[in-house]
Amino acid sequence: MSDKDTCEVKEEIAYQTISEFLESTPPNQLIHISDLSFRKHSQYVNYDAMRTPEIQLHCEHENCNGIRFFRCVSGKEQELKSKDYEFFYVRYRCSNCQRVEKTFSLAAKVDAENKPQGECYKFGELPTFGPPVSPKLIKLIGPDRDDFLKGRRCENQGLGVGAFIYYRRVVENQKNRILGEIIKVSEKIGATAEKIEKLKSAVTETQFSKALDMAKDAMPESLLINGHSPILLLHSALSEGVHALSDEQCLELAGSVRVVLGELSDRLSQALKNEAELTKALSTLMNKKKS
Ligand SMILES: [Zn+2]
Repeated sequence: MSDKDTCEVKEEIAYQTISEFLESTPPNQLIHISDLSFRKHSQYVNYDAMRTPEIQLHCEHENCNGIRFFRCVSGKEQELKSKDYEFFYVRYRCSNCQRVEKTFSLAAKVDAENKPQGECYKFGELPTFGPPVSPKLIKLIGPDRDDFLKGRRCENQGLGVGAFIYYRRVVENQKNRILGEIIKVSEKIGATAEKIEKLKSAVTETQFSKALDMAKDAMPESLLINGHSPILLLHSALSEGVHALSDEQCLELAGSVRVVLGELSDRLSQALKNEAELTKALSTLMNKKKS
């Protein structure tokens, strides 16, 4: 590809499909849509109507708890003009449980009459945009839930510095809670006294960075993430001063902190669950032996 070609590619308008836009674009952005409308023909009317195709979203209902198809249940076939924006709501419902709904607040206009392309702006959505935060992670960070969710909102909107600072604050505040859970697992699986001692002294260490540094090598194997200590991963992501980072770098680091915290909370609850199952199995067998 010549330089000229590359320039031309860059100048092209970036289009999203309406499904992509509804499913995965954070609010507060004006986006060009390739398939925004269709021509509605009927006996009396002829107009450009908003498309509201089936979309895939995370459904939090206990019977679903995963990605499900959602269908539009109200706000279908909104008439769109080419001169001015129309402001309207569309409401979607999960096709599986038929209970969970998602409402979008939108503004849209077509580029030209009788053409599918147009522009759409998402003012917001209810429930709030973004994949859900796992209940295990919420449990792990306990009292700092609200700050964590604020960080998540920043991250969803691409506000890197904000997300990084909120997550860092959560990990700093909840350092002892997180280490406490790790100690619980270590004690259950019979880790060496030396490792447990290291973790306990990290709890009493008030300097955050130093505490993570002390604890990083004392991780039980079942908590390692692809062979890496989660505390070491958090330490290296959070040790960078925010003033030395660009917004993009902050966003990337914030994302990794969130993923590591999520993985750690999964592994902690799995390790404790396995231990509980093992204890139960042993006691069943021991009782059987006795009788
Ligand atoms: Zn559902």
